[in-house]
Amino acid sequence: MARYTDAVCKLCRREGEKLFLKGSKCVTDKCPFEVRSYAPGEHGTKRSKASNYSIQLREKEKVRRIYSLLQRQFRGYFSRAQKRKGVTGVTLLQLLESRLDNMVYRLGFASSRNQSRQLILHRHVEVNGRLVTVPSFHLRPGDEISIREKSKKLGLIHSSLKRQKEGTGLQWVDVDKASLKGKYLMVPEREQIPLDVREQLIVELYSK
Ligand code: SF4
Repeated sequence: MARYTDAVCKLCRREGEKLFLKGSKCVTDKCPFEVRSYAPGEHGTKRSKASNYSIQLREKEKVRRIYSLLQRQFRGYFSRAQKRKGVTGVTLLQLLESRLDNMVYRLGFASSRNQSRQLILHRHVEVNGRLVTVPSFHLRPGDEISIREKSKKLGLIHSSLKRQKEGTGLQWVDVDKASLKGKYLMVPEREQIPLDVREQLIVELYSK
């Protein structure tokens, strides 16, 4: 499976904001963005006036990086969103939120989507009682996500849950920390997705 292997903190610096890609490190003063919030590279500190195109492109890249997708995968999600009824930008986010790796992260079993992906690939996650090793697995409302019985003692899962003191804060998922089970209750409305992005810009970019 192809994936991005360069330093992920560069991605935050490139997008000019914290994308929270490294779990617990992101909320400590070890976060490189706190020290160098300018773009990486020789010309990183220079700012030129952004065109409409570059604003749209950056928004698309931001969302793509938050969900850790390659260009082709992201384009595929956009095409699927276009074919569905509803507002394309919102449908795109709903599809991305329905990925298993995102859900494991949202439920608090992992502290980042990348860590969640590792949990799935290393055979620690089940959906409706069956082992699933595909991070992009598409969940439907009503699906139950759980940690495999023999993986329930994994330290990283418990430390991740411990950090999530206030619960998920999401109305569309339910988690039982004691049994390490969660449920995808319903497709979230746009305002229920905690993501500070302007998805309409992505639609405009791909409509050119
Ligand atoms: Fe981004 Fe987290 Fe790295 Fe900070 S530590 S730059 S928020 S990925």
